[in-house]
Amino acid sequence: LIELDRQHLVHPVSSFRGHEERGVRVLRSAKGATVTDAEGRELIDGFAGLWCVNAGYGHESVVEAAAEQMRQLPYATGYFDLGSEAPIRLAAALAERSPGDLNHIYFSLGGSDAVDSTIRFIRYYWHAKGQPDRDQFISVEQGYHGSTTMGAGLTALPGFHDGFGVPYQWQHKISSHYTYRNPLTTDQEIIDASVAELKAKVAAIGEDKVAAFYVEPIQGSGGVLVPPKGWVKAMRDACAELDILFVADEVITGFGRTGPLFACAEEGIVPDLMTCAKGLTSGYVPMGAVFMRDHVYETIAEGAGAKAVGHGFTYSAHPVSAAVALEVLKLYEGGLLENGRKAGARLLAGLDTLRDHPLVGDVRGRGMLAAVEMVTDKERKTPLPASVQPATRLFDRAWEQGLIVRSFAQGIFGYAPPLCCTDAEIDAIVERTRTVLDQTLE
Ligand code: PMP
Repeated sequence: LIELDRQHLVHPVSSFRGHEERGVRVLRSAKGATVTDAEGRELIDGFAGLWCVNAGYGHESVVEAAAEQMRQLPYATGYFDLGSEAPIRLAAALAERSPGDLNHIYFSLGGSDAVDSTIRFIRYYWHAKGQPDRDQFISVEQGYHGSTTMGAGLTALPGFHDGFGVPYQWQHKISSHYTYRNPLTTDQEIIDASVAELKAKVAAIGEDKVAAFYVEPIQGSGGVLVPPKGWVKAMRDACAELDILFVADEVITGFGRTGPLFACAEEGIVPDLMTCAKGLTSGYVPMGAVFMRDHVYETIAEGAGAKAVGHGFTYSAHPVSAAVALEVLKLYEGGLLENGRKAGARLLAGLDTLRDHPLVGDVRGRGMLAAVEMVTDKERKTPLPASVQPATRLFDRAWEQGLIVRSFAQGIFGYAPPLCCTDAEIDAIVERTRTVLDQTLE
């Protein structure tokens, strides 16, 4: 398998720069929060796949729901006025549970195309409002909004741009003042700086030119960066004041990752549009979703008149994905959200005990989303030297301890375990991390 993978399966992030010596690590099976590799070794999946298997692996009821839907009706297009029961019921269930009047839902295949879809809908919205010049988009440094071309433009990680040509000139960034190394000290200073920067950016671009502002309630792929309490609300309010749309990208934070079903609920805000994926189907099958508020949907509808709004994918509103999502939602509400909240508190408390380790500069997170950032000098926040830091090396050490975590290039371990984790599994995640830290110190 390793040889066939090397020859034929493209993993853009690793294939092109030459695979690691050892080649791909092949997983064979999984149950709960534990995965088993091809050699039969068991590991705790502290990252729920790619922050997605929120419900955990091996739920028979999910498998049954998918199989039953495949037997009955494996496919029905959602492109035109055709449909099937599962996506209709899912849209209704999500509308009922989402914050405020985010009542209109478009299903995509994953997160990137959900983000791309918002750009389309937002452009249609401003056209309908008679303001077609509002075609500029703003996002936040260290943000991640997907790997499709438009999503990658909003993504503010250089690896997604170099040699490619995104972001386009209509994609702008403001700083994430809440990073570990930011020079501002109080929460209020950070909030004020961000609001001021957003306002200045909009003024510089032109007040009647900006279409929307995108945020992740907690930045995931940038290294689990948690803004201070009140930051999301302040940015949301600033967008209302500036008359630009506010988009919350909840692809990672949705579906119990930070505690509630949606992080926006906890922030006390209603975004104009919201994107989800990952935990929506808990990784069993692909699916993403765009949520729109009444005013967004109705404006697009009024503007379209008798014209078709040209947007859609063959696999939008896929019945099997929807059947899985409905079953996963039952699991979340049947105890997983609650378990996730308890396990998340235990995880953060556990990781907090690592603060006195000589290599730990920062511990941060919310719910089942956390990070430990390693440094060589806590005062100066000096990053680990390049000889120690390569993400694969730290990842390999964790793997040897029977733990899968995301290892970011900056010397950050990211955690996003399944919500079903037991106390013993959470404690093992913390202890295995401690062992890796001790080894790294040597
Ligand atoms: N937005 C956010 C916040 C994400 O974290 C991701 C994926 N990590 C995406 C969008 C893209 O989702 P996908 O990989 O499913 O296309």
